[in-house]
Amino acid sequence: MTTLELFTPENVERVLCIVAHPDDMEYGGSAAVAEWTAQGIEVSYLLLTAGEAGIRGMAPEIARPLRAAEQRASCDIVGVSRLTILDFPDGLLEPNLALREAICREIRIVRPQIVVTMSWELEAGRGLNHVDHRATGISVVDAVRDADNPWLFTDQLVSGELTEWKAPWLCVTMHEPAHAIEVSEASLERGVASLEAHRHYLAALPDHPAPRDLITGILTGGGEAAGVPLALPIHAYAM
Ligand SMILES: [Zn+2]
Repeated sequence: MTTLELFTPENVERVLCIVAHPDDMEYGGSAAVAEWTAQGIEVSYLLLTAGEAGIRGMAPEIARPLRAAEQRASCDIVGVSRLTILDFPDGLLEPNLALREAICREIRIVRPQIVVTMSWELEAGRGLNHVDHRATGISVVDAVRDADNPWLFTDQLVSGELTEWKAPWLCVTMHEPAHAIEVSEASLERGVASLEAHRHYLAALPDHPAPRDLITGILTGGGEAAGVPLALPIHAYAM
């Protein structure tokens, strides 16, 4: 990995993490979330699908509430109170205007200084990227801009409760990294526990690496590249 620059933005009060599925934040991202919430930063999650098609051998109507409960437990471990799960179809997510509008609405509600999302590239992280992850990433890029444009998705603005919002930073995980978020040992532990909270999901994947090995590997590698003990590799874009 190339040398990574530590990402240390100032005056951050709120962070909004937008991903496709329950568990997507838990592959390293939630360790950075634990670090932020420990500093008093308010972190919210927006999941675009309920991950109902994500467990082979479990029917969607059973998986849906179960995965929501596992995500809620995972959020509690890293200090996330606001968890919103939308009902776009798992496995069939499309980067369309309805998706952008929904993301834009949440950005205008939460008014974050940092939006976190996942890579939109075809190759990302450990191999070929999932269709829902690609659709999420590219839609978030566009929706961050949409949210700041008073002439887009104006239905959200007519009541005056919501106004346009410029999020100054977009942080992308599992993407060609250029930056890193330093995390403590305690945040690593909470990150590991937050992935372990997806018990049924992991139980259906016997070849899945142990959460501790996986998260420690990601954060140690990021730390080495950034010159600190532990860090999450990201790409931070100034918007
Ligand atoms: Zn996913």
